[in-house]
Amino acid sequence: MFDKILIANRGEIACRIMKTAHKLGMKTVAVYSEADVDALHVKKANEAVLIGAAPSEDSYLRGDRIIQAALDTGAQAIHPGYGFLSENPEFVEQVTKAGLVFIGPSATSIRKMGLKDEAKRLMEDANVPVVPGYHGENQAIDFLAAEAVNIGYPVLIKARAGGGGKGMRLVEDAVDFEDALASAQREGQASFGDPHVLIEKFISSPRHIEVQVFGDNHGNVVHLYERDCSLQRRHQKVIEEAPAPAMPADVRTVMTEAAIEAAKKINYQGAGTIEFIVDGSGPLRTDGFWFMEMNTRLQVEHPVTEAITGVDLVEWQLRIASGETLPLSQNEITMNGHAFEARIYAEDPQDDFKPSPGTVHNIKFAQDCRIDTGIQSGDAVSPFYDPMIAKITTHASERSNALAALVNGLDNSYCTGIRNNISFLSNLAQDQDFVDGAFDTGLIARKQEDLTTQVTPSLFDIMAAFLTLNPLDMSAPRLGWQLWGQTNHAYNMVFDDTLLEGIICFLGSQTINVKFKDQEITFNNVHIDSNCVTAKNDAANYSALISRHKDIATVKSGTSQFEFKMLDLLALGLDHTQDTGQIISPMTGVVTVVHVKDGQVVEKGTPLFAVEAMKMEHVVVAAENGEVKSVMCGVSDAVEQGQLLIQMVEADE
Ligand code: ADP
Ligand code: ADP
Ligand code: MG
Repeated sequence: MFDKILIANRGEIACRIMKTAHKLGMKTVAVYSEADVDALHVKKANEAVLIGAAPSEDSYLRGDRIIQAALDTGAQAIHPGYGFLSENPEFVEQVTKAGLVFIGPSATSIRKMGLKDEAKRLMEDANVPVVPGYHGENQAIDFLAAEAVNIGYPVLIKARAGGGGKGMRLVEDAVDFEDALASAQREGQASFGDPHVLIEKFISSPRHIEVQVFGDNHGNVVHLYERDCSLQRRHQKVIEEAPAPAMPADVRTVMTEAAIEAAKKINYQGAGTIEFIVDGSGPLRTDGFWFMEMNTRLQVEHPVTEAITGVDLVEWQLRIASGETLPLSQNEITMNGHAFEARIYAEDPQDDFKPSPGTVHNIKFAQDCRIDTGIQSGDAVSPFYDPMIAKITTHASERSNALAALVNGLDNSYCTGIRNNISFLSNLAQDQDFVDGAFDTGLIARKQEDLTTQVTPSLFDIMAAFLTLNPLDMSAPRLGWQLWGQTNHAYNMVFDDTLLEGIICFLGSQTINVKFKDQEITFNNVHIDSNCVTAKNDAANYSALISRHKDIATVKSGTSQFEFKMLDLLALGLDHTQDTGQIISPMTGVVTVVHVKDGQVVEKGTPLFAVEAMKMEHVVVAAENGEVKSVMCGVSDAVEQGQLLIQMVEADE
């Protein structure tokens, strides 16, 4: 085995590969761009080498610099991850020429599967069923148009060099063919430098089912069962699962055998995936699946296969690349239970999933799930790379339990500072058709509106936001009550560009009444700590995760995530004066200004002092006319919540 490997990637997959390498006692070398100086994959590696500017072409696609970094650091092998250089045969050749090991298949195998048309021709020779269509050399417009008619509409035009869902156009009617062809060719040229296309029958009610295969350098090939990746948006996978739901045993046998044939046909070594498109209009059939393409690398969604087989696929990659035989034979590879993976992206579901780069203020993940991520609180999601933030994977004995665990995992995770799809993923995981296993690749597009509808916050969410923005020590309830008094407090916060105004009243020990418009609810047992608010009443138990950044409170309540912006406290007319004339600090912080001095007579509403904490300034004003008897604080003093800062008395006269 290797002593030291270089990982030619970034983000979650670089971190994930390091995890296994470190487990096996290997040293790791990260490479990074100028945008990734503080990235997690750089911190996790034993060594890290800067390879260029932020754009991928200047860094993560610079094979020459990556190879040089490996040579300079004494790494023996390079793991490419997925994306970037992972399926680039020239890079593989250069790595080998430099005397290093490429952790993946040979350049020859990659080339054979690199173009979708050639791959299909090869698979026909191997008697693997391929999607009916035209995948020859003739690219004349009239010829292709005639082929489309022969195949029968609807058809799919695909750039043969395409990947990541790019360069594909669905055509439902012959009149649209020419325009769609031109646009697929343009995208093929722009993204992959190759305008060449193939045309396929568009399979109706399609399901995407793929088989994980593994080959070693000794002629052995095994499969590790299938994954269903039918939940897609714009041909990109969103939630994946293993095994495929409602997969009959005979179909699994035929499909996995076809996948092994495909891999053997190209002497495949390492981890690979054979993707099939499957007729999902009725029960799955042994003659109802067709080869689409092979991905000659580790797949994004490999964790679901690891969950059901117990195999560490990266460990297998490392072992096989160092010349070992496959660790298990086919009949030793068993499948247990069911697993789901959801891809968390920095994108805005409410704005047609537009990417949302920026700084993550606070990111928290549920316990009891597998989390693969390259992002920590405070990190930037760079506009230069893929917007994936994390993957969340759950596993249980039954599909329904694994899916419930996924929903729970998503609902107990949040990310603030940038838009993200966590709530959307949870809605999707709760969709009845998906729960029932009755879905195809069109499900998200059909239900996009329902799945992305923004719900409005409840009165509990409003209370949680108020308590987050006005930190009280609720574990010392008397203090909290004393502080707020048993009075009505107007709140006004901005949610989704609208002003929410109402009344919050502290009724007694841990009891709060919230009024909003014509609604009113009283919550008992209100408890708040640094990341959670809970309460109950006769109707229900309530709980929300909370997070605060400056004057914004994030409330994660069930599936929904809400953001509330605070308005100036002074404008709220909050009152921190007690009948005793004792004026206490509303929170733990630092005194930033003292407006009054001993003996000064003040009118109701006069600012007395301000305390700052978490970049929020709280101004305390006089609740009544009176005289300042003594000021017990000065500027820059660190003060505790509840600390006596000013003693007031009734003014003489
Ligand atoms: P998978 O089946 O593993 O999801 P994809 O073909 O969707 O395979 O791509 C895998 C990864 O490769 C993506 O998550 C992304 O990082 C990268 N990638 C591939 N093609 C593209 C593309 N056209 N644009 C952006 N990223 C891409
Ligand atoms: P990419 O290289 O971009 O991953 P694929 O050929 O794997 O391209 O296709 C991506 C997705 O497009 C598939 O997962 C599937 O949802 C859809 N798709 C591809 N071919 C067909 C087809 N013939 N009929 C229906 N859907 C298809
Ligand atoms: Mg694909």
